[in-house]
Amino acid sequence: MKIAIIGFGAAAIGFIEKVKDAGIEVHVFEKSKDIYSSSISGIRADGKLFVSSDMGGELDVDLKLQKDLVDFWISKTDNNSVETGKSFANPDYYKQFYSKGFMPILSDFYHLGTDQLKEVLYNIFEEYKNNKNIHFHFNKNIKSFEVNNGDAIIEGEKFEKVYVAVGRSGHKLVKELMSNYPEFVVDSSKVDLGIRYEVPNHIVDDLNREMYEFKVKFKSKTGYMVRTFCNNPSGYVVTENYGDFKTVNGHSKLKEKSQNTNFAILTTVQLTEPFNDPIGYGSHIAKMSNLLAGDKVILQTYSHFKNSKRTKNLYRVMPTLPESQYILGDVNLAFPRRIVESIVDFVDNLDTVVPGIANPDNLVYAPEIKFYSNTLNNDLVDSVKFIGDCSGYTRSIIYATAHGYLEAEKLIENNQ
Ligand SMILES: Cc1cc2nc3c(=O)[nH]c(=O)nc-3n(C[C@H](O)[C@H](O)[C@H](O)COP(=O)(O)OP(=O)(O)OC[C@H]3O[C@@H](n4cnc5c(N)ncnc54)[C@H](O)[C@@H]3O)c2cc1C
Repeated sequence: MKIAIIGFGAAAIGFIEKVKDAGIEVHVFEKSKDIYSSSISGIRADGKLFVSSDMGGELDVDLKLQKDLVDFWISKTDNNSVETGKSFANPDYYKQFYSKGFMPILSDFYHLGTDQLKEVLYNIFEEYKNNKNIHFHFNKNIKSFEVNNGDAIIEGEKFEKVYVAVGRSGHKLVKELMSNYPEFVVDSSKVDLGIRYEVPNHIVDDLNREMYEFKVKFKSKTGYMVRTFCNNPSGYVVTENYGDFKTVNGHSKLKEKSQNTNFAILTTVQLTEPFNDPIGYGSHIAKMSNLLAGDKVILQTYSHFKNSKRTKNLYRVMPTLPESQYILGDVNLAFPRRIVESIVDFVDNLDTVVPGIANPDNLVYAPEIKFYSNTLNNDLVDSVKFIGDCSGYTRSIIYATAHGYLEAEKLIENNQ
């Protein structure tokens, strides 16, 4: 059997890990020019691995498989060094957050760190490359493919099955496929819009020591659900370039540490018919923010964000994002009011549990946007499967790895 995988990210790795000794000929098409080239993804920046049934995707992945996959990733480091923690293992913290209306999310986490991910990817790639059944084709940005008599035709070559594993950065290919086969789309209505928040470490020291990654959800007075995401103790804020717009993100390193902690505060916007373009909606807001900031991102103090005033000076908290990448401004000129109100409600309530979190000079960066891919139907065409984030079922390294792994398991079973 000869199959193709488009994209070499977490889902493709989970898939290949399962299929590598099954005697199946696997061709991997990856748009980057080699294994080191960057694409925006957590297996190239940050690398936090979570074991949780409450986050990571809309997929049932049992906790044992999640932990096995964490061990797989850790086994590819050179000396097994990772930071680890459990969120809300301490019932006192759980109760404190719960009593103030927050929904604490339970998870175990393992942090590889940006600096270690290169060697992890290199070690995985070296092993797969030496397997005679696995063939890598770099520099192949697949823009489309055809399905003909049950086979998928990619770059003129025939494959019995194609596994599309292009993550979110491959949204153009997915969009192109959807324009030819709209019946693949099961659901397309959600987007997470918000900010990256940065505070001095000492404000969240206890929390960081206790659990490193604190994840909570909160139903705000606007009715929107707001959540924290991707906490980076002693971390750095960075920008992400999507080609036609820039957003903010954060990461942390195993060795180099800053004085600040950053995390995302995201509002989930779920709209109904006739709305069907969450990526378009999010992109427009991102572009509007960039437009105001001269193609950069906006930085504002919390009190100005809350009171809709342009920030002109900072006070005690100094940004970890280099000055060349932001403009001091007013996020309110780009964000819908309901989103700003939801975030303010969240921060002000969080301050009752974590005093100082709503300090007027804490920093707000915008836009931070998390796109949900459309949820796609994997049972529609036998030769075309979507795995990982582009399928709409996953949003994390471990869930994407698991999705690839589970789909490979099905392939092997059906091929016997
Ligand atoms: C900056 C950042 C940090 C993150 N940090 C974390 C984290 O710490 N922990 C966590 O659990 N999750 C994190 N995530 C999310 C996580 O990276 C994803 O959920 C996960 O990598 C999804 O795996 P995937 O295989 O679906 O896609 P990816 O890992 O993104 O892989 C997709 C691959 O497909 C390639 N590709 C795209 N389009 C094409 C095309 N047309 N032709 C050929 N190749 C193509 C890309 O170059 C890429 O290599 C982060 C995401 C980002 C953007």
